[in-house]
Amino acid sequence: MPIVKPSPETISAAAEALRRGELVAFPTETVYGLGADATNARAVARVFEAKGRPRFNPLIAHVADLEAAERIAYFPAHARRLAEAFWPGPLTLVLRRRPAGKICDFVTVGLETIAVRVPGHPVALALLAAAGVPIAAPSANKSGHVSPTLAQHVLDDLGDVPAFILDGGPTTLGLESTILDAGEQEIVQLRAGALPAEEVERVLGVRILRASEAVDPSTGERPAAPGQLASHYAPRAPLRLGAASAMPDEALLAFGPGVADHDGPTFNLSPSGDLVEAAANLFAALRLLDAARPGAIAVMPIPDTGMGEAINDRLRRGAAPR
Ligand code: AMP
Ligand code: MG
Repeated sequence: MPIVKPSPETISAAAEALRRGELVAFPTETVYGLGADATNARAVARVFEAKGRPRFNPLIAHVADLEAAERIAYFPAHARRLAEAFWPGPLTLVLRRRPAGKICDFVTVGLETIAVRVPGHPVALALLAAAGVPIAAPSANKSGHVSPTLAQHVLDDLGDVPAFILDGGPTTLGLESTILDAGEQEIVQLRAGALPAEEVERVLGVRILRASEAVDPSTGERPAAPGQLASHYAPRAPLRLGAASAMPDEALLAFGPGVADHDGPTFNLSPSGDLVEAAANLFAALRLLDAARPGAIAVMPIPDTGMGEAINDRLRRGAAPR
């Protein structure tokens, strides 16, 4: 049973395991990550294998602080400003990679850019400090499935693949990091996430482009966010979005006050209509409703502002044809 309570002893044992090339699942403030030593190609390859993750989908390199990040990537002034404002925290920056860095090519799937983040969780930071290497970590779930917000979710998806699952309890934010392409003049949000775009815009004083709006002038193409697959975050049951109420054979994923009674399995993401609470509950709610094996999960509409942008992104991908 790989689940352990984090303590100085278990964290140091987990860091040892990482340095030996084993995998370690750990809590962050967003979701649980499946970590490998980012400088060890064999270890990183095992992450792809364990998740069944497509080989073209790059990983995020987690580091202890901005200084460690600057050893692996170039920071334009605006990127440094974002890092100073939001790290440690749920913001991933895609930047030009330093050629001399020790990160193996598997992490970036050979791209000239790299995604980096300093996670805002004491256990993740303690593990990074003890390991002394950047940790490449995607979410600790099977590829395409709902992300894990509890140690038990990691165990359900990956069994004893990780040498350790450090149990930090439920993750506080519950949605993946916001990913910004910040390597060039124009900043593009590649993935909506737990840091609302509005907060980024407040720090920068300009509006940032969403991936759907940005076009590369040299090629006329949308920016590459490899691995942002249409179908992702999917429970077993199909999702029916924008539902006013649920049919008898459906489960109901509700939001807000005054929800009509439903006889089947029901989960209200936030009875008071709080989007931060809804985000924290989303993935666990999908797993719970799915476990009841409903014909479908009816999902009530959720406002598209603040954290709602990321919630709706995950729901749309969860509902996409598989
Ligand atoms: P995950 O680890 O599942 O949260 O996914 C990380 C995501 O970050 C990937 O699916 C990519 O969309 C994005 N990403 C990572 N590295 C890069 C990169 N070098 N360029 C663009 N996007 C990236
Ligand atoms: Mg993931």
